[in-house]
Amino acid sequence: GRGDYKYKISRDDVDVGQILGEGFFGEVHEGIYKSPTRVAIKTCKDCTADVKEKFLSEAELMKNLDHPHIVRLIGVIEVDPVWIVMELYQHGELGKYIIEQQYILTNATLILYCLQICKALAYLEGFNMVHRDIAVRNVLVASPECVKLGDFGLSRYVDEQEYYKASISRLPIKWMAPESINFRRFTTASDVWMFGVCVWEIFSMAQQPFFWLENGQVINQLESGIRLPKPQHCPPTLYSLLSRCWAYEPHARPSFCQLACSLRYTAVYLYTCISY
Ligand code: ATP
Repeated sequence: GRGDYKYKISRDDVDVGQILGEGFFGEVHEGIYKSPTRVAIKTCKDCTADVKEKFLSEAELMKNLDHPHIVRLIGVIEVDPVWIVMELYQHGELGKYIIEQQYILTNATLILYCLQICKALAYLEGFNMVHRDIAVRNVLVASPECVKLGDFGLSRYVDEQEYYKASISRLPIKWMAPESINFRRFTTASDVWMFGVCVWEIFSMAQQPFFWLENGQVINQLESGIRLPKPQHCPPTLYSLLSRCWAYEPHARPSFCQLACSLRYTAVYLYTCISY
């Protein structure tokens, strides 16, 4: 695309530090780009031409995104060894952070995270982009008051009336809408369902949704009308919003734009002391 040059960076400007974790394609390191910017560096282990294209597709998508609650791409090094360089969010994955901080985090902060993720998704909705993997493991914590939606590895653009038909089988069943499980149909409406599950994770202190079921049992439960129960600390008004995200019919679910509005209203109503 036109803005590609903007993201072409030189390896000389990157200092690689210790390992942060293992990604799907290879190790992720922390590092420094043009001191003092702290960055996360994604590497690609067995980078054949095919793998390289898939690895870089996530960065390609991210080049077009600019939002305060979406992980920011800093640059790409396309010559071997291929690297993707992103802004570093030093508090790491939201799921782990919630577990560590569970006795400190207030409901007001949890709902703030939900609203930030929702705004990021409303932004994607505006581009007809589906994320397909919304879960606390894919949200990073930049500061105690700011989270960033990441992991665009499964994201796709979809045409207005269209949907993305998934081919791979590495799918997060317990987060997925019934039409995604049954027909591998992914739309903004199925992202809304997943967002509801992600909010459930946040208010359940990062427990796994349906941890009491096998993957294979989930669809039968959903089809008989069973949904994730209200987490102990989830305000009833918020849970009723989740129930709408989990409408069986995709068309009956709210949009992210509507959800952001309702979430903000709920947050302000419950916790007038914070600015959302
Ligand atoms: P998967 O598809 O299996 O989730 P992945 O290839 O998307 O893997 P990530 O999960 O994004 O890789 O990264 C692996 C590890 O690196 C995770 O533990 C994550 O917390 C960490 N990490 C990735 N990006 C960043 C970042 N920008 N800031 C801080 N930590 C990061």
